[in-house]
Amino acid sequence: MTRSASCLCGATRYRWSGPVGEVVLCHCGQCRRANGGAFNVAVLADVADVRFEARDRLREYESSPGKYRAFCSGCGAPVYSRRDDLPDVLRLRGGLIDDLPAPREVIVSHRADGWDWLD
Ligand SMILES: [Zn+2]
Ligand SMILES: [Zn+2]
Repeated sequence: MTRSASCLCGATRYRWSGPVGEVVLCHCGQCRRANGGAFNVAVLADVADVRFEARDRLREYESSPGKYRAFCSGCGAPVYSRRDDLPDVLRLRGGLIDDLPAPREVIVSHRADGWDWLD
C-alpha cells in the first residue's frame, strides 16, 4: 500500500510504500523544540520506500553531530530526521502522512523529560 504525505504548504510531498512498523513518540527536549509540541511522532521507514514528488524547499538542520532534521522551508513543517550511522532509515514525521493507520508497535521515548501533566 502506498500512502501520500504533504507538508502544510504542499511544497514538500512524498509517497511511502512501506509497512507501518514502529512509531516512536519522543518527549525529549530536542524533539519538543524541533516540533513546537509535546512530543515528536517518528514513523520508521526504509529510505528505499520513500519517493519524493516535491522537495525543492526541503532543508536539513544538523541538530547534533551526524543527525539531521529535515523541514520544509516554505512552511516550517518538520518532515523527517535521519542519521549518518543509519543511512537506510528515515524517521518520517507522522503528521504529514495521510490516513496513518495504527502501527505494529508504539515506543514511548524519553517520557520522563516530557510534561508530567500530560496523560
Ligand atoms: Zn511546506
Ligand atoms: Zn527526541
